[in-house]
Amino acid sequence: MKLSLEQLSPLAAAIGLTVLFGMESILPAAGGRRHRWQHAARNLALGCFSSIAVKMLVGGVLTSVIFWAESTGVGLLRIISLPPAVAMVAAILLFDAWMYLWHRANHQFSFLWRFHRVHHSDPEMDVSTAIRFHAGEFLLSTLLRLAVIPLLGISVSQLLVYETLLLPVILFHHSNVRFPEPMDRCVRLLIVTPAIHRVHHSRLRLETDSNYSSIFSFWDRIAGTFRLRQNTTPVNFGLDEYDGTWQRFSNLLLMPFTTSQNRTSILKGFSKLISRWV
Ligand SMILES: [Zn+2]
Ligand SMILES: [Zn+2]
Repeated sequence: MKLSLEQLSPLAAAIGLTVLFGMESILPAAGGRRHRWQHAARNLALGCFSSIAVKMLVGGVLTSVIFWAESTGVGLLRIISLPPAVAMVAAILLFDAWMYLWHRANHQFSFLWRFHRVHHSDPEMDVSTAIRFHAGEFLLSTLLRLAVIPLLGISVSQLLVYETLLLPVILFHHSNVRFPEPMDRCVRLLIVTPAIHRVHHSRLRLETDSNYSSIFSFWDRIAGTFRLRQNTTPVNFGLDEYDGTWQRFSNLLLMPFTTSQNRTSILKGFSKLISRWV
């Protein structure tokens, strides 16, 4: 049976997710986690809902735009016309650089942060957090890709290869697996590892606003946003304002459209109303 690139990407994700979820049971970096299945099911439900909704909404438009760009020959990589292997490496590097900029913008601009904070609000980061993204973030990212991909001249096959590489790497760096430090140190010279991405999920804003890279760790080193913990204190994951009931599936969907302050005042208003009657 021959697998197409389109089938390879979800297959790589499913295998990576299963293997790392199993490893988290045997060798957890942060222990004492209860309700792991419930937590993973919620994150998976959100990720699947977001990606299916956005694919149905704009997936076809994105594919048509990429094919249109291919047929008309527009885009940086087509203009400079490189040998296929070199073009593939260049496409992966260029798109990963774009992913760095997009991720950084999600932290910089409050409108984008509204959606991206759904990913950051997870108080128990593990492999399932890798796919915990709000549909709004997926939608905005896909809309920007409509311009970025033709501009860079990235083909459908180059994009599929990038995504097939990206998925296992993001599953790996979100995983709650205790990998040996010498291994992490060696891999992080090139690839984003759990030691790097855990800092990004810290509750301390100084740490949250660092380590934006997706596949290659050198973008952060080049841009001066690379940060590692000097001490061995475990990272406290999540966002202070979004604990407790915010972690319900319905509240994760609503999180971008409200603030924790508003929510408190809505709840306070509601309890005031009740106390009038009771
Ligand atoms: Zn982030
Ligand atoms: Zn993350």
